[in-house]
Amino acid sequence: MEMGFPLVDHLSKQNMSLETNHTYDVAIVGGGLAGLSLSIQLARAGYHVAIFEKEAYPFHKVCGEYLSFENWNFLEELGLPLSDWHLPFIKQLQVSSPNGNHIENDLGLGGFGISRYKLDAALADLAKKTGVQVFEQTKVLDIQYQNQLFHIQSTAINISAKVACGSFGKRSNLDIKWKRGFALKKNGSLNNFIAVKYHIKTDFPSNLIALHNFKDGYCGISRIEEEKCCLCYLTTAKNLRDNHQSIPEMEKNVLQKNPFLKKIFSSSHFLYEQPITISQISFEKKLKVENHILMIGDAAGMIMPLCGNGMSMALHGGKIAFKNIDAFLKNQIARFEMEQGYTDEWNRIFGKRLLAGRSIQRFFGNEKLSEFLVRFIKPYPKFVTYLIRQTHGSPY
Ligand SMILES: Cc1cc2nc3c(=O)[nH]c(=O)nc-3n(C[C@H](O)[C@H](O)[C@H](O)COP(=O)(O)OP(=O)(O)OC[C@H]3O[C@@H](n4cnc5c(N)ncnc54)[C@H](O)[C@@H]3O)c2cc1C
Repeated sequence: MEMGFPLVDHLSKQNMSLETNHTYDVAIVGGGLAGLSLSIQLARAGYHVAIFEKEAYPFHKVCGEYLSFENWNFLEELGLPLSDWHLPFIKQLQVSSPNGNHIENDLGLGGFGISRYKLDAALADLAKKTGVQVFEQTKVLDIQYQNQLFHIQSTAINISAKVACGSFGKRSNLDIKWKRGFALKKNGSLNNFIAVKYHIKTDFPSNLIALHNFKDGYCGISRIEEEKCCLCYLTTAKNLRDNHQSIPEMEKNVLQKNPFLKKIFSSSHFLYEQPITISQISFEKKLKVENHILMIGDAAGMIMPLCGNGMSMALHGGKIAFKNIDAFLKNQIARFEMEQGYTDEWNRIFGKRLLAGRSIQRFFGNEKLSEFLVRFIKPYPKFVTYLIRQTHGSPY
């Protein structure tokens, strides 16, 4: 059955030519790793899928761009030719305290470096080839649930769907519109971070990821494709305010007190004129299902980007969602069972990892604690490997 859904007045006037009425099996809001990987799995299983992305591919995203190896097979099975891309394999971790004390350790399973510019665009391409209807440069304004159907209202088109998924990332217009708990919280220790990212060319080993601490933050650096490096840091909004809202001033006065960062900032070739930035990052808990909409990836909960496991949680979360949605659409389970099954599995697989990330995060970005951590664990490399393993998962 096809269903219509009226656009609000000013939108219908602007976008009349794009308006269609169509019912999909699944509508996905947000074309990052969670949404795109889910859309491909669903389309392969024969479902009629639409995904909305407010930007146009390819585009840059704030992210450290270190992806744990646990995702390698899954991405290749989806159809990405990772082995042909000659990506750097990252096996060593270096951690430094603000004054330059440092440790280096084996990463265990390790990971590989790839830019989001390349990865997300390749997945979007694959989604289109698999038959997913990809609406680019189309922002979703609201989703309403009525009589077992979701009505999705966007800047360009309105559709209906039997299942709706929210994979719209860390913070979106929909979080505010739906008054999600984390978006309403007052600024505190878990919810007022900013992040800054550059691509640079610099002399940096291809098998290493470094995490350099500075006052109230830490900066990751590792290689991606084409011999470039991703340099990405997380700090508090207060740190920027204390430096007159000036990123160059903060980098000079705060980050570059760490001798490793001083060397990187003074000897590298920065490939963008301006960095890419995001603000109001929150690591607060989030609901996995909102008004029957399954939340996936960062929209379901964010892990501290220490050893970079957010991308794994987005991809693996998409796989868990697929399993539950598939069973629902085949009438094997009821809607409430799909919602409960997804929530339970998400918590079982990621709960411990999030807790470990939160606990270890306390030591990062804190001058005294990060110094203590580096000095304390230096003689115990096995303990470092253990800590890293707590924030990582296994191939799935
Ligand atoms: C500083 C920092 C460094 C990080 N480093 C790493 C790392 O090295 N390794 C790692 O594994 N993880 C890292 N992460 C985490 C990782 O970036 C995220 O976990 C991952 O991107 C989540 O993917 P996602 O698909 O949930 O969201 P996203 O990739 O953010 O995708 C969400 C998409 O939704 C779109 N969107 C939002 N609202 C709407 C709307 N209303 N309509 C349509 N589209 C919409 C957005 O444009 C976006 O493309 C880092 C995070 C931060 C903050």
